[in-house]
Amino acid sequence: MLRSRTSKTSTTENETPREVVLSEDEWRRRLTREQYRVLRKAGTERAFTGEYVDCHLDGTYHCAACGAELFSSDAKFDSGSGWPSFTEPAVASAVELHRDRSLGTERTEVLCRACGSHLGHVFDDGPLPTGQRYCINSCSLSIEAAQR
Ligand code: FE
Repeated sequence: MLRSRTSKTSTTENETPREVVLSEDEWRRRLTREQYRVLRKAGTERAFTGEYVDCHLDGTYHCAACGAELFSSDAKFDSGSGWPSFTEPAVASAVELHRDRSLGTERTEVLCRACGSHLGHVFDDGPLPTGQRYCINSCSLSIEAAQR
């Protein structure tokens, strides 16, 4: 797990204590410009541009910001949305859901619980049995392929 002793704790967006706390400068250094925009500024990558949209590798998807385990490839499905889509997180406690009223509509934002980074949104139009579609930016993820 990544940790920083020098950064200040910042909980302006919510009250959840984070396991990984870095200053904005440290995030900027650690992440690419696009990752910073998406993960730390709740941006969205353009549809069909991310490296995991059509990825069918077996493995585990981790948070690109802090390395926390987020999604299993077993839960990945082809949604046609242009973003990697999952029916559920690897463990429920890996993510945090927030109401998001931006863009004049109400959506549910998905954050990495460990570091508070923005991952994407979750919708109720996924396949059974969960009926959920976790619509996640590729650049918020890093796959660890399964050993063969
Ligand atoms: Fe994270």
